[in-house]
Amino acid sequence: MFDQLSQSLENVFGGLRRRASLREQDIENANQEIRRALLEADVALNAVKAFFENFAPRTDLLTQELAQTINPADELLKRAQNALARLLGEGAQRPMRLASTEIELSNPPTILLAGLQGSGKTTTAVKLAFHLQKQKHNPLLVSLDFSRPAAEQQLLTLAQRAKIPTILQSENPENNEGVTGNAITNRVIAFAKHAKNIATKKNALLICDTAGRMQVDEQAMDEIASIAKILTPRETLLVADAMLGQEAANIAESFKQRLQISGIILTRLDGDARAGAALSMMSSAKKPVRFAGTGESIDALEKFDPNAIASRILGRGDLKGLVEKMQKSTPKVEKTSEKQEKKDIAYGKFNLNAHKKQIQQMRNVGGLEGLAKHLPKAMQDKINNARAKSMVNADKLKRQEVIINAMTRDERKNPKIIHASRKKRIASGASATIVEVNRLLKNHASTAKAMKTMAKWDDKALQRNATSLFR
Ligand code: GDP
Ligand code: MG
Repeated sequence: MFDQLSQSLENVFGGLRRRASLREQDIENANQEIRRALLEADVALNAVKAFFENFAPRTDLLTQELAQTINPADELLKRAQNALARLLGEGAQRPMRLASTEIELSNPPTILLAGLQGSGKTTTAVKLAFHLQKQKHNPLLVSLDFSRPAAEQQLLTLAQRAKIPTILQSENPENNEGVTGNAITNRVIAFAKHAKNIATKKNALLICDTAGRMQVDEQAMDEIASIAKILTPRETLLVADAMLGQEAANIAESFKQRLQISGIILTRLDGDARAGAALSMMSSAKKPVRFAGTGESIDALEKFDPNAIASRILGRGDLKGLVEKMQKSTPKVEKTSEKQEKKDIAYGKFNLNAHKKQIQQMRNVGGLEGLAKHLPKAMQDKINNARAKSMVNADKLKRQEVIINAMTRDERKNPKIIHASRKKRIASGASATIVEVNRLLKNHASTAKAMKTMAKWDDKALQRNATSLFR
């Protein structure tokens, strides 16, 4: 994410770190370089200005302040993280109001998605429904896009894949096919009313996909403004393509003139998007980014956490995001065995059942490669070098899981009982060699030892020591 900006900023701070103390001139030079990096990442001018107001309003005072600290470069890096996080909307986010307990009768909680054609609205509607369903919401999807005959079908196909219920245009009793021109808007509005009724009856959270146009045009704006009037949505989210850089923030501004936009969803943050869209949104459009689209698949939607993203941009890693990803990808296991595992780990008893679960988690976050994305840059490079050799690439993880599957319950609970004849049986059951079984057991023994130590760490120690694990 934002690789280019990240690289430039790391160069700046890497250079500062090599100095024992920082003179005013050093800070001014760094400011120049940071400014250039931000502008190259297509960050809007007013956002760059806002950044420096937080980061270094006066270099003379900042120099004095830093002179009092033990590690001036690190202190400056922290300031940069705070200033970037502010720019990304830290502190500006009130939680979304989607709970059905807040329902006024006859007005279901509704999310309306707006945006240009191709920005990712339809995909995002389904991703969002999928995400919110996991948070115990009861989403119901509807396509208010009457501009193309295939638009509803696209939503339906994605929704079926994600097992999210939809309301279909053909189910509307007032459906009148073949109307053209302005009358299309009337049909959309009639359907929006219908959808609202259905959602109310089903006590559901209504998520509405809408038509986009190539340009921000008047007729499209009129249409979505009338839809919003009917639906009175709790959240009206603008879906914007992050690849457009600061232009995305301009688009948000022009939508804001016609619609009460409550937040932004940035799509395509997985590509080589420049940081301009995300960093300019708060200063230009004054709207918080709620979610980031990070791929085409249904689960490629992340909550947008300004502080974590600022940390990632500065190459400081994002342990919180990693923990969330691990939790999200934990496969469902029987409740009792899960409880037992937690207990086992807490007591430093890390057996092969727990080991298998770890392997599954690693596979679900994409092996070391997926994990590395959340770690500080310096560690990422080391991990990427070590990846090919290690036990933790996708193929090897799968092999290890197969081997554990070939063990009996007793063997998994107590690997010590696995002697020669058992190894032979396991190897043949997993179509593996004895060498592979031995390697797994050895790896397990050393992990168990490490887990025993880690079980004694508190959060602070965990953060501190996580770094040394990868040395
Ligand atoms: P709409 O016209 O606004 O409804 O846009 P669509 O939902 O049809 O999306 C247009 C294209 O962008 C599709 O091919 C999507 O798969 C793709 N897309 C949407 N969101 C993302 C994202 O976050 N990352 C990537 N890589 N592709 C996306
Ligand atoms: Mg669409």
